[in-house]
Amino acid sequence: MTTDTKAKETRAFEADVSRLLHMMVHSVYSDKDVFLRELISNAADACEKLRFEAVSRPELLADDPKPRITVSADPDNKEITVEDNGIGMSRDDMAEALGTIARSGTRAFVERVGVGGTTEDTQFIGQFGVGFYSAFMVAERVDVISRLAGSEEAWRWSSDGKGSYEIAPAPLEAAPRRGTRVVLHLMDDAVPCTGSYRLEQLAKSQSGHVPVPITLVEKPG
Ligand code: ADP
Ligand code: MG
Repeated sequence: MTTDTKAKETRAFEADVSRLLHMMVHSVYSDKDVFLRELISNAADACEKLRFEAVSRPELLADDPKPRITVSADPDNKEITVEDNGIGMSRDDMAEALGTIARSGTRAFVERVGVGGTTEDTQFIGQFGVGFYSAFMVAERVDVISRLAGSEEAWRWSSDGKGSYEIAPAPLEAAPRRGTRVVLHLMDDAVPCTGSYRLEQLAKSQSGHVPVPITLVEKPG
C-alpha cells in the first residue's frame, strides 16, 4: 500500500504546550501586578456561581451563606494565598478548567445556565480562560486546594507552570470547608508583594468592582 502524499487533508493545529505556557506567562501581561486581579476575579466568579446554584439548591450554602474572599501574605514562607468560599472545583473541574489552556469554566457556566455574562442578576468576570496562568508571573509553584460545594472530597492541583500539573486527593482538614484556596509560592523577586502596605495597595488597585468583600490578612493564622 502506498500513501498518497498529494491527497487533500484537514489537520487540527497542534501546540507545544510548554512554549505556549511560557508565552502566556511572559508576554500576555505587561504588568505583573495583575495576578491578584485575576485571582480575585476568579474567586468572585466562584462566589457568584455558588449564589446562582444556591437558588435551586440552598443546602449548598450550609452554615456559611455570605460570600467572602481572603487574601493573605506570609513573607516568611514566601507565600500569597487567595481563598474563597465559592462553588469550589471537583477533580474533573480542575483538570478541565486549570489543566486546559484557554478553557473558561466561567464561560461554560454562563452558557450552560443561559444567562448573559453580566446582567442585572448576575455578574461574571471570566471568559477567556487564561487569567489564572498569570499567577506564574510571580510564583514558581501554584497549589490549588478546592472542595466543591456539597462534596465530601477535596483535591489539590499543583504545577510549576512549565507544562505539567499534578492532581491528588487532599485531606478535608487541610482544605477549605467549601471553595478554593490558591497558594502562590513566590519567586524571590516577588516576595516584596507580601509586605502589608504593598499588599493592601495591590489589592485595592486590582480588585476593582468585585461584588464580594475582600479581607486582607498579614499572616495566615
Ligand atoms: P476565566 O476566569 O476567564 O474563565 P481563568 O484562567 O482565570 O479563566 O480561570 C479558568 C477557570 O478555572 C475558571 O473559569 C474556573 O472554572 C476555574 N477557576 C479558577 N479559579 C477558581 C476558583 N477560585 N474557584 C472555582 N473555579 C475556579
Ligand atoms: Mg479568570
